[in-house]
Order: sequence, then structure tokens, then C-alpha cells
Amino acid sequence: MGKSLENPPETGSKPAAAPLLAWYDRHARVLPWRARKGEWSDPYAVWLSEIMLQQTTVATVGPYFMRFLARWPNVAALAAAPVEEVMKEWAGLGYYSRARNLHACARAVAAEHGGKFPENLEDLSKLPGIGPYTAAAIAAIAFGKPATVVDGNVERVVARLFALRDPLPQVKPEIREKAATLTPLKRAGDFAQAMMDLGATICTPKSPACNRCPIEALCDAKAEGIAALLPARAPKKERPVRRGACFWLMKGDHVWLRRRPEVGLLGGMMEVPGSPWDSREAEGAKPGLDHAPLDAGWKRVPGKVEHTFTHFHLMLDVYTATTRKKSVPGGGEWVPLDRLAGEALPTVMRKVAAHAMPDAGPLFAKR
Ligand code: SF4
Repeated sequence: MGKSLENPPETGSKPAAAPLLAWYDRHARVLPWRARKGEWSDPYAVWLSEIMLQQTTVATVGPYFMRFLARWPNVAALAAAPVEEVMKEWAGLGYYSRARNLHACARAVAAEHGGKFPENLEDLSKLPGIGPYTAAAIAAIAFGKPATVVDGNVERVVARLFALRDPLPQVKPEIREKAATLTPLKRAGDFAQAMMDLGATICTPKSPACNRCPIEALCDAKAEGIAALLPARAPKKERPVRRGACFWLMKGDHVWLRRRPEVGLLGGMMEVPGSPWDSREAEGAKPGLDHAPLDAGWKRVPGKVEHTFTHFHLMLDVYTATTRKKSVPGGGEWVPLDRLAGEALPTVMRKVAAHAMPDAGPLFAKR
């Protein structure tokens, strides 16, 4: 018979810190932003990595983090950079409001805090782009404050450790409460990172390696044989589909790009001109040539570009044409193809570029 998620068990605090810290001392992941044992944790590196890691994997963030740190080695350097350059370096990481807030935060730290990140949760939380999670991560990891850090990995570990059966996202407040009971007064930063590492390497989503887990003896879900079933999740709503068309216009070895409005999805990023992204496909709307920026011999490229955003799935038709005009209605600029890799082009627009010019792939890949 399958295991049931009924009948919640008794829960309480657990002495998980000591075995976890001992395990962390031996098995901590080596990450570019992480101080090794005995090293000083640079608050700038901790902050930068935590902002980048929101909604993004460790593997993806690594090269971006290294490039940012090489180009802007401290918060003053980042604050002094033009925001457009920051957006260009960020291109491809997604959730672009993070890049804008990153820059605004660097400026605020430089202007209001003498270039040093504040150490307490309250002041950290007032900075642009720093929510409760990131404030706790900086306070704990950079400054050793006993703040409780709960990311997706930690959520999973805590839900299992206490066998919390209610589904995400409703169970989040209870997870945070339980997590707080685990946080030690000393080495809170190492403890936070130990929990993250445990979730990433042992207490993994589908098949937790409980026999290698340092807190196996404390774990309620393991004892009840329901570890892999937790955390439970409320069923996901299906993403709606939106459709649109993009117009890849060439003049010699230049392509016409425009900047998106500062506010909204992909705010301030560059794009290939196109139609609005329409969700009326049920009514038969087919965005097409009526949205082209000018008359040209537009040819539709067979196939579609598809990209999934958090709240919808996008399908784009791509049309190509050439022109000799100096400029194009609707604003924008001619950009040489060999500069595209360094432009603030979001991933969906890199896909459009690759679809329009399938033989020029390397030109459009992020450096
Ligand atoms: S015993 Fe298993 S389920 Fe429990 S925390 Fe460890 S790895 Fe996760």
C-alpha cells in the first residue's frame, strides 16, 4: 500500500545544527562566491550571488558572477557603472528587474551607507531588490547574524525533517517557523549554507539519499517513509499561450533593434521589433505583417520561436527582410551583428535571432 499524507505527526524543535555543521565542514560545496573555512565572507559577493541565484541555478549563475566580479570588483565600482552596461552583462539571466534593482541597490549602498552593506535585517530590507530572504542570507552568511534563510532547498529539507504535509505554497509560513527553531546562534551563516547544500546534494527533490544524510536520525519524513512525497504541492495552473510576430530587418551586416519600455516584462532590454504578445488566439487573432515596422519584402521563417515565461508560454512567428533605409519607424538603432553577443538581449530575443539566421548561431550566444 502507498504511503499516506494524512494524520500529521507531533512536531517540535530538533538538534540538527551540530550534525549539519560537522557535515558541512567536510562536504561544503566549493562555489565561486563562497568563502572557504577561515576566510572572510565578502558581503558584496554574497549579495551579488544571492540576487543572481533567485530563480536561477548555481550552474547558470557561475559564469555571470565571475564576469560581474571581474568587471565590477566592489560595490562602488558597480554603483559607478552605467545601468545599460549592467543590463548587457545580465542579459540571458532572466528576471531583468533584478538587474535594475541590483544597480539601484549598489548606488544606495554607495550613497547612503558609505559603500558598506548594513549588517542588520531591517536596514538590509530597505535596500532595492532585497526582500526578506536575501536580507537574511546576507545577514547570516556575510555577517554571521543568527538569521534564518529559507530558499527552495531549505524548504524541502524542513518540510521533510518535520514531515509537514500541507502543500506549498500554503505551508511556507510553517516551514519558516520550523526553520527558525533550527538556526543556531553561532555559525548561522554556515548553518544556512549547510541546509542549502544538504537540499542540493542529498535531500534532493525526487530521490533523497537518506542513508548519507547527517540528520537522518532526526527526520520524521524518513521515519514515516514519505520523504520523496514531501513537500506536497498544490496542482499548478496551466500556463496560457500568447502569440506574436517579430521582424528581423537587416541592412548589410546590421540588424534593427529597439529598447523595450523601462517598466514591465523584460523592461529596458533590447528586442527585435514585433507585435504585442496576444493571448486572444482562441478568437482567431493572428499577429502578423500588419505589425511590421515598415513595408519590405517580409518572408516568414518556417517554424516558430517558443519561450516560457513564469506566467505564460510565448510562440513567435519570425519574419525577415532587408532594407536600405537609414532608420525605421517606431525607434531603435542599427546594431552590427558582431556586437549582438554583448547586447542586452534577453534569451527569447537570442532565440529569435538564431531562428532568423540559423547559420550564425555563435554570434548570438552570450559570451
Ligand atoms: S533523512 Fe532524507 S528526507 Fe530527511 S532530511 Fe535527510 S535526506 Fe532529507
